[in-house]
Amino acid sequence: MPLHPIPSVLLETERISARIRELAEAIERDYPPDEHIHLVGVLKGAFVFIADLARHMTSRVTMDFIAVSSYGKDTRTSGEVRLLKDLDTGIEGRHVIIVEDIVDTGLTLTYLTEVLRARGPKSLRTVCLLSKPSRRQVPVEVDYVGFQIDDHFVVGYGLDYAEIYRNLPYIGVLQD
Ligand code: 5GP
Repeated sequence: MPLHPIPSVLLETERISARIRELAEAIERDYPPDEHIHLVGVLKGAFVFIADLARHMTSRVTMDFIAVSSYGKDTRTSGEVRLLKDLDTGIEGRHVIIVEDIVDTGLTLTYLTEVLRARGPKSLRTVCLLSKPSRRQVPVEVDYVGFQIDDHFVVGYGLDYAEIYRNLPYIGVLQD
C-alpha cells in the first residue's frame, strides 16, 4: 500500500513546460526590452511555477515572494485573506507581475492586487498557471493564464493537499 494515493494525471509535465515557455515569451514581448520585470511569487503554491517561468526569461527579471493564508477555512467561509509574509523590498516604480499557482474564487488575487497596487508600482499584472473560472466569487482579471480547468481539486507542481504532493512533477487530481 502506498503511503499516499497516486493522483491521476490532468496535465502532463511536458504540456505544462511547453505552456510555461509560451507564457514567458508572451510576457517578455509585452514589456519594453530595456526595463526590469519584478516577479512576485505567492508562497507556497507558486514556487515551482515561478522557478520554471523565470528560467525561460532573460536576466532582466528580479524576484520576491509573498505569503498569504492558504486555501481553507478562512478563505472559503469569510472571504478573508491574511498576509503571512510580506515582500522583502519595495515595489514603487517597478513593473510587477504577481505569479500565482491557481485562481479559484478570486479572493486571494483580488486582495493581493489591492495591497500591491497601493504601493505604487509602475505597472501591475498577474500570471496564473491554472484558473477555475466556474468557481469565481469575485470578478478578477488575470493577464496571463496557463490553463483553464474544470472544478477539480488539483495537486502537484507546487500545489498541495495537506502539504503533500507539492513535488509531484505533473498536475493531478485526487480520486474521490
Ligand atoms: P482563491 O482565493 O482564488 O479561492 O484561491 C487561491 C488559492 O487557493 C490558491 O493559491 C491555492 O493555494 C488554493 N487553491 C485553490 N484551488 C486549489 C486546488 O484545486 N488545489 C490546491 N491544492 N489548492 C487550491
